Amino acid sequence: MSGVIQLGHLFGISIRVHFSWIFIFLLVAWSLATRYLPDEYPGWSTNTYWGVGIAASFLLFVSVLIHELSHSLVAISRGKKVKGITLFFLGGASEIEEESANPGEEFWISVVGPITSFALAAIFWGLFLATSSGNPQFHATTSYLAFINLVLGAFNLLPAYPLDGGRVLRAVVWKATGSVARANSVASFMGSLSGFAFIAIGVSSIFAGSLVTGLWFIFIGWFIHSAASSFGHQQAAARALSGKTVRDAMDEDQLTPPPWDHRTRFGR
Ligand SMILES: [Zn+2]
Repeated sequence: MSGVIQLGHLFGISIRVHFSWIFIFLLVAWSLATRYLPDEYPGWSTNTYWGVGIAASFLLFVSVLIHELSHSLVAISRGKKVKGITLFFLGGASEIEEESANPGEEFWISVVGPITSFALAAIFWGLFLATSSGNPQFHATTSYLAFINLVLGAFNLLPAYPLDGGRVLRAVVWKATGSVARANSVASFMGSLSGFAFIAIGVSSIFAGSLVTGLWFIFIGWFIHSAASSFGHQQAAARALSGKTVRDAMDEDQLTPPPWDHRTRFGR
């Protein structure tokens, strides 16, 4: 990927940032400094709002990185190679080289991300409660990070492939039916459907007067829909090209090279 800056290594994993992250970093800092914080905590100076906004936006970046690291570390513990983690404007992506060999592996590599976000939310909430009579800026930052990590965990648990929840669904169907092909079609179908649902919410938000929120939903919906449907098409094409019947293909694990060779994970 071009436009990527290498930050260094953590646990032997290369950590990179795509330039588009800077856009979301500034957008989050700006919306905190000019809207959320002045509304919730009136009476601070402009510099204080910006200082807290930038600190909270940076800690959101750290939270997403920890979420991605959890996927990568579980993958490594299962013997996978991880090429790196890239943060970009939609969140983070872990590049895990091999496809999961069984549903259990797929389940744990996927579910650990939302669990990690919920754990971070709990830690920030604990800090928020522990410091309720302390520094108001610290208090505001921990409250925001508890909330945003809760949202990240819940959003990623949606059964919308390629989100973590969609991968968990794929693992569950795989385990229940013993067929990776059936799991792939369910994951692809649910991902496409969720993508359309996001787009529909976006369009109705625009009609309700929320242009930016609406466009954001449409964009995320389009991203989920196109990732899920291209995954489904690759699966179908792989079966057609293999010269085997669908029935054969459905009983065979890993018939073709993995559809996402650089298994990019989507996390926000
Ligand atoms: Zn994730």
